[in-house]
Amino acid sequence: MYEAVKDTVSARQAAEYYGIRVTKKGMACCPFHRDRHPSMKLDQRFHCFGCQADGDVIDFAARYFGLSAREAAGKLAKDFGIRYEEGRPPDRGKRKNPVKAASLEQNYAELERNCFSVLSQYREQLSFWKERFAPKTPDEEWSCRFCEALDRLPRVEYLMDVLLHSPMEERVELLLSAGKEIAGYAGRLQESEAGTVGSSENAS
Ligand SMILES: [Zn+2]
Repeated sequence: MYEAVKDTVSARQAAEYYGIRVTKKGMACCPFHRDRHPSMKLDQRFHCFGCQADGDVIDFAARYFGLSAREAAGKLAKDFGIRYEEGRPPDRGKRKNPVKAASLEQNYAELERNCFSVLSQYREQLSFWKERFAPKTPDEEWSCRFCEALDRLPRVEYLMDVLLHSPMEERVELLLSAGKEIAGYAGRLQESEAGTVGSSENAS
């Protein structure tokens, strides 16, 4: 189980999945000490330059949730849809169909992680816009980024909530129905990274 989890999920992915904001450079505020500026580096493993916390994805989840390593690996496997067989390395041997099913499920888990990551980045951007572009006087015209934030934040938060807390069938259904919408958000993020946001007013 440990290997299956460690091979599938990086410490960074887990941290993001559990709601920690990770910058593009892989830095985050350390959840294990009072950290006001990001001093934790997250990648396959994590390391905090402030408090020296260090380890792999299982150590991270164990410490973050106060679980034993075994419980943490179990939680990660469940949350990320990782299949494993007790005492046997994953995906070895001549079992044809089970392997196929496992890889389908892993593909799905990856899709779900990607969607969640898009949503969480977009939410971060919208929250920033909501403050940054809020009108300062009552008669000031509302900026399109401010409107976009007001308009979409509740929806994005709802989608994240379903992905975090709903049973598998509902999550699959959500991704089927909202896949295009989320891809649109990803496009929106790329636009703003490219610095083209704001040049067009048709943000809806
Ligand atoms: Zn720390």
